[in-house]
Amino acid sequence: MKFQPDHNGYYGQFGGAFIPELLYPNVKELEDNYIQIIESETFQKEYKDLLKHYVGRPSPLYLAKRLSEKYGATIYLKREDLNHTGAHKVNNTIGQILIAKQLGKTKIIAETGAGQHGVATATVCALMGLECIVFMGETDIKRQAPNVARMKMLGAKVIAATSGSKTLKDATNEAIRYWIQHPDTYYLIGSVVGPHPYPDMVARLQAVISEEMKWQLKEHTGKENPDTVIACVGGGSNAAGAFYHYLDDEDVELIAVEAAGLGVHSGESAATSQLGEVGVIHGSKTILMQDEYGQIVEPYSISAGLDYPGVGPLHAFLFDEKRATFMNATDKEALEAAYELTKIEGIIPALETAHALAVLPKMDLKKDQTIIINLSGRGDKDLETYIKHLS
Ligand SMILES: *Cc1c(COP(=O)(O)O)cnc(C)c1O
Repeated sequence: MKFQPDHNGYYGQFGGAFIPELLYPNVKELEDNYIQIIESETFQKEYKDLLKHYVGRPSPLYLAKRLSEKYGATIYLKREDLNHTGAHKVNNTIGQILIAKQLGKTKIIAETGAGQHGVATATVCALMGLECIVFMGETDIKRQAPNVARMKMLGAKVIAATSGSKTLKDATNEAIRYWIQHPDTYYLIGSVVGPHPYPDMVARLQAVISEEMKWQLKEHTGKENPDTVIACVGGGSNAAGAFYHYLDDEDVELIAVEAAGLGVHSGESAATSQLGEVGVIHGSKTILMQDEYGQIVEPYSISAGLDYPGVGPLHAFLFDEKRATFMNATDKEALEAAYELTKIEGIIPALETAHALAVLPKMDLKKDQTIIINLSGRGDKDLETYIKHLS
């Protein structure tokens, strides 16, 4: 229970809801209802049904034999890349769209970095026949063209965020600005960030990942708990989902991997826990990259999904409490890890996911050590970047 938020949405000192007054009724309505809705029989039935028949869950837990051999440990991959729309994001959007419907909302807005959350949101909006607007940084629109096309085909309106670094944080700012002007819309946040109750709500919806991992590992090995779980962290939703049912099992080592860009101290990085300090971003008190005046430092990573200057409050707490170990990987290390997985397992991972794989060579592994890496998404959207760096 230590890692569950209190009723104001605080994990230790992190979390809360720092929002303009105009959004208060909206956020309060969600806060008052989300747990009751999620725990209701109707929701659970519909959610589980869609996860099974629409998303294709449970996603396999795959023993990566050649990867295991190479690193001298027993490595399983949780195949979130096989979900409909290609990543873990859809677990959350399916859940939140059902919650939005329950609250009587008809218009959905979302922010997106790599475009995966935008696609996952546009997908569930098409599924439910709801209007969808996605905010996306201009830089990301350029580097994630296939996902922009998918969102448009799915009927979403994509609005470019042209301020700041023109990436995920700027898209989030635009989405919040629009939300303030149109408080009747439902803001479908894509990670364990934002004001309470979003971090907890999204963690609960992604928790299906570790719920499955437990029984799947038991099927494979006879025990529920691996020694180590590794996941990449942008805002932290796939990691939150992969860690969720192990948080209180202190014998399970949790490793969160951030993007180091060109190097943690290069000035071109998104390794929030290493560079950040306590502050408020997008409605939540957490660790974020900021300068001496509290202005947000522009993050950088080759991977659009990790290019965010903060982490969710749960992760800030896991870092502070040393419950999770925070590691990082550079662009180059991630690219190498992506090629390696592709060549020895025949799986092309998303660039974000490649960061999680990239810490294997940096770890002191033991032969009987059982590791689960959360394979958060597939690499189709990153082919252009991969091809450019193939030499
Ligand atoms: C969005 C994304 C991430 C990063 O987001 P989290 O909220 O930290 O999970 C990681 N991997 C993939 C494939 C993504 O699409």
